[in-house]
Amino acid sequence: MRHIAVIGSGPAGYYTAEACQKQFGDGCRVDIVDRLPVPYGLIRTGVAPDHQSIKAVSRRYEATALSDNVRFVGNVTVGEQVTIPELLELYDAVVLATGAPADRPLGVPGDDLPGVIGSAAFVGWYNGHPDFADLKPPLDGPAVVVGAGNVALDVARILAKTAAEFAGSDIVNHALDHLDAGIHEQVTILARRGPHQIAMTPKELGELGHLARAAPVVDPADLPPVEADAALDPGLRKSVTHLRSFAGPPANKPITLTFDFYAMPVRLEGDGRVERVIVERTAIDANGRATGTGETYVLPARLVVSCIGYRTPPIADVPYDAKLGRFANDDGRIGPGLYAAGWARRGPTGTIGTNRPDGFLIADHIAADTAKDSGKEGRPGLDRLLAARGADPVTFRDWQRIEAAEIAAARDGAPREKFTSVAGMLAASGRGEPPAIGP
Ligand code: NAP
Repeated sequence: MRHIAVIGSGPAGYYTAEACQKQFGDGCRVDIVDRLPVPYGLIRTGVAPDHQSIKAVSRRYEATALSDNVRFVGNVTVGEQVTIPELLELYDAVVLATGAPADRPLGVPGDDLPGVIGSAAFVGWYNGHPDFADLKPPLDGPAVVVGAGNVALDVARILAKTAAEFAGSDIVNHALDHLDAGIHEQVTILARRGPHQIAMTPKELGELGHLARAAPVVDPADLPPVEADAALDPGLRKSVTHLRSFAGPPANKPITLTFDFYAMPVRLEGDGRVERVIVERTAIDANGRATGTGETYVLPARLVVSCIGYRTPPIADVPYDAKLGRFANDDGRIGPGLYAAGWARRGPTGTIGTNRPDGFLIADHIAADTAKDSGKEGRPGLDRLLAARGADPVTFRDWQRIEAAEIAAARDGAPREKFTSVAGMLAASGRGEPPAIGP
């Protein structure tokens, strides 16, 4: 028997559990530990609420979770309630699949002004993450979204959609109401490089062309000659084709969604809150990097959302690469018995499915590195430790009760209305009378 602890119940965690099941069959016991009482990590609180088809992958994780040799241990914070050295004593392998839930800082003067928000917080807010339920971002003026990746597109689209366009989504009510009352007429996406350097995928970019109240706009002068698109890989070429279609005369809609290329924020200013972004024009240098040209201009802003990538927070006793913002690891191996999978291993890139091969990689490492019957204690040892510390672990059965309450509370046409506080989740799991759903 191999005892395996997976820390984090998002895609990397569940794909690792699934791969271990395939690799070891009944010869393994996998405990998936999460600090929240609810599973699925990025699927629940990162993937956009209007992208339900992507979220449907949680059904696959559920099948893994319901198998006999996999257990969910929610509401337990590793590094606080139980340490990594303690887990390494108890389990043959400990896999850190904690994702990258912290924002990379913008790193320019004024980035700490009220109204400047990282995408982890903004996305967490509209997705009902308990850490960000009270964010209430200012939506009463122009919004600036920094970054040219898919998260920037998610944020711009969510800012632009009407309440009716969220039909069938699981955006939480507090965000739906606040967005509906918003009065921003201008959303600007600041991309520090050009249309050929975007990290936006075609499907997501194409969605912007079909919004009810927002029209995407690209300055034709920013587009390279059309012949140059032939050298691009097919996905990027499709994305650039969408950008070209946004360069015509803008449709007459209440919100203008402007792509501002070759533009990077150098300073954020305002009296007690952000009021404007000082933007510097860029050019691309010989190494493909954006460099400032010295030409600056001012963009009014009531809200700035930086969508420039994420970091994995460190955990006590785990070697950490501060430059890369993830655990120091060699192809997933951190040290004896300790592994990293998914974004915690390789940084915040790729799709949900990219984490699947990661799971197989780690299962192969575990097979090669660990003995079949080491005599480690596994689950009973963890349960004893957690009981001694007064922890209140949440089981998958508890989560199913929470999920049933969320489904029952859904507004018409929505799949669920999420609890946005840990107390609400715990109460709904059978630990008491659930409070009303909401922040
Ligand atoms: P990303 O794809 O790495 O994009 C980050 C963007 O931020 C890049 O355009 C980058 O520009 C820019 N940037 C970085 N530092 C900057 C700075 N200091 N100033 C200005 N701009 C800066 O990251 P992401 O958008 O957070 O997405 C993370 C991953 O999740 C990606 O793999 C993404 O495809 C995936 N995702 C997928 C979906 C979907 O499929 N629907 C949705 C959301 C996220 P440079 O290129 O110049 O560095």
